[in-house]
Amino acid sequence: MRLKDRVAIITGGARGIGKKISQTFLEEGASVYIFDVNQEEGARTVGELRPAYGGKVIFFKVDITDEKNVEQSVKKIIDAEGRIDILVNNAGITRDNLILRMSLEDWKKVIDINLTGAFICSKHTVKYMVKNRSGKIINISSIVGVHGNAGQSNYSSSKAGIIGLTKTLARELAGRNILVNAIAPGYIETEMTKKLSDKIKEKLMEQIPTGRLGSVDDVAKTALFLASDDSNYITGTVINLDGGMGI
Ligand code: NDP
Repeated sequence: MRLKDRVAIITGGARGIGKKISQTFLEEGASVYIFDVNQEEGARTVGELRPAYGGKVIFFKVDITDEKNVEQSVKKIIDAEGRIDILVNNAGITRDNLILRMSLEDWKKVIDINLTGAFICSKHTVKYMVKNRSGKIINISSIVGVHGNAGQSNYSSSKAGIIGLTKTLARELAGRNILVNAIAPGYIETEMTKKLSDKIKEKLMEQIPTGRLGSVDDVAKTALFLASDDSNYITGTVINLDGGMGI
């Protein structure tokens, strides 16, 4: 087991990519705390995972943009476990539009959840990782944070910001043995990408050398590598997980 007895927080773990990361970390022996606003999906996910993993999977209804809510939830984990070894900043949303049609509200909402939320969760978790002189932070960025994408100025800016946050925290925290890396997925089959029309999907395929969309398992396995001791000399890196889209 590659994460035996480690304690992990996974934001946005109620569904999609975060759910698969939660399941993968549990399989590898970690205790997993899911921070998510979606109570219904959170309860469903915990219900699915409990028979196999018992009390090792716990759901907290947390809005990652609410600093007090995050701080108190992290403290509860410390009181129960005494440590946090892994943070996966995965929660994210889209509110797509071309810039002339994009409202300031949609701009702010996406930056607030995707970028500021990751800052808040990192800040309140790092406090305890520093005391332990050990930790792994994995930030879920996106290929559009690397290359940009028409209609996603808010989202791609938030995901580019995540890369800046990753590299800066990697520099700040390496001396305390806290390693910080990002994954930049291309198009992954989830609820988020189900909304794309068949025409758009066809066009996408032409740009993906491996000829398929990514799976949640592809992302979870990369997150596992970054969370485990197999990556202990890697920090400040962005792994492009895109089937070659960015070549
Ligand atoms: P989903 O929408 O399936 O899941 C995201 C989860 O985060 C949902 O449960 C959502 O709740 C929750 N969430 C939203 N806002 C908050 C908040 N303020 N606090 C806590 N939780 C919140 O997303 P995916 O699994 O598709 O994506 C996961 C991550 O991967 C995102 O950061 C996304 O940007 C990134 N990504 C995804 C790609 C893809 O192709 N799917 C490609 C590249 C990157 P609710 O259901 O209520 O919204």
